[in-house]
Amino acid sequence: MIQQFEKVAVIGAGTMGNGIAHVFAQHGYAVNLIDVDQAALDRGMATIAKNLDRQVKKELLTAAEKAATLARLTPMVDLETGIVDRHLVVEAATERLELKLKIFQTLDAHAPAGAILASNTSSISITKIASVTQRSGQVIGMHFMNPVPVMKLVEVISGYDTTDETREAILELSRDLGKVPVPANDYPGFVANRILMPMINEAIYAYFEGVAGVEEIDTIMKLGMAHPMGPLQLADFIGLDVCLAIMEVLYDGLGNPKYAPCPLLRNMVTAGHLGRKTGKGFYSYA
Ligand code: NAD
Repeated sequence: MIQQFEKVAVIGAGTMGNGIAHVFAQHGYAVNLIDVDQAALDRGMATIAKNLDRQVKKELLTAAEKAATLARLTPMVDLETGIVDRHLVVEAATERLELKLKIFQTLDAHAPAGAILASNTSSISITKIASVTQRSGQVIGMHFMNPVPVMKLVEVISGYDTTDETREAILELSRDLGKVPVPANDYPGFVANRILMPMINEAIYAYFEGVAGVEEIDTIMKLGMAHPMGPLQLADFIGLDVCLAIMEVLYDGLGNPKYAPCPLLRNMVTAGHLGRKTGKGFYSYA
C-alpha cells in the first residue's frame, strides 16, 4: 500500500466501480464505495464478496485476506461525506458527460486540496472533465478493463493540463495494485477504444454488407487472429449502446468519416437490442 493514497473513494458501484473498489481494498487501501442508488450499492458489495470467494477457492487469497479486504470497504450513498478526507477519488459512474461534470465539480469542492481526482471513463475527454475543476493538474484518467480484478491493464490518460507528478504517482499506484499501467494522451477513445471500436464497427459493416454471417465473422477473427472472443460477441458483451456511444465520440472528435457508426449498429440500439444485458444482440441469450 502506498501511504500517499491510503484513503480512497470509488464513485459508482456498478460493473466497473465494484471491481475497482475490490482491487484497492485487496491491496490494503481503505475504500469508501459510493453510489446514489442503495440497491446498486448492495449489488456491488455482494459481487465483491462473491468474487473474493472465488479467489479464495482458487487459492489466490486466504480466508483471512478476504475478511480483511471486506473490512476495508465502506459502502455509502452520500458523496460529500464520502470524499472529505480522501487522498484519491476514482469516478466510475454512468458514462454521461453532464453527470461526470457535475460529479467532478462536487469532488473539487469537497475533496482535500491535495487529492487526485481520476475518472474511469471509456471515452469522455479528461481535459473536458478537468476543465470544470480548479485543479486540472490533478485530474487524470484511470481506465481499468472489465473484469477489473482479473484484467491487468490500466490505461493512464493525461489530460491537457495533467502534471507529470500526477501521472507518475498514478502509474506507481497502479503497479502497487498489481496492474500494468500504460500512459496515453487525451484524444478521443484514448488508445484502447480508438483501435478496438473501429474493429468492432468494421465487423458489423461486414455482416451488414453480407460479406459473412455472425458466427463466420467471429470464427475467422478468433481462429485467424487468436482473439479470445470474436468482435460481434465482444460487442454484445460490452453493450451495443456503449459501442455506438464510443463510435460517436470518435466520429465527432476526430471528424473522419472512417469512424461513422454502421447503420445496423444504430438500428439495433434503437430497437433496444443491446446485447447480453437485454438478452439479444448479434446472438440470443435466452
Ligand atoms: P454501470 O451502469 O454498471 O454502473 C454505474 C453506476 O454509477 C450505477 O450503479 C449508478 O447507480 C452509479 N451512479 C450514477 N450516478 C451516480 C452519482 N451521481 N453518484 C454516484 N454513483 C452514481 O456502469 P459501468 O459499466 O460500471 O461504467 C462505469 C464507468 O466505467 C463508465 O464511465 C464507463 O464508460 C467506464 N468503463 C466501463 C467498462 C465496461 O466494460 N463496462 C470498461 C471500462 C470503463
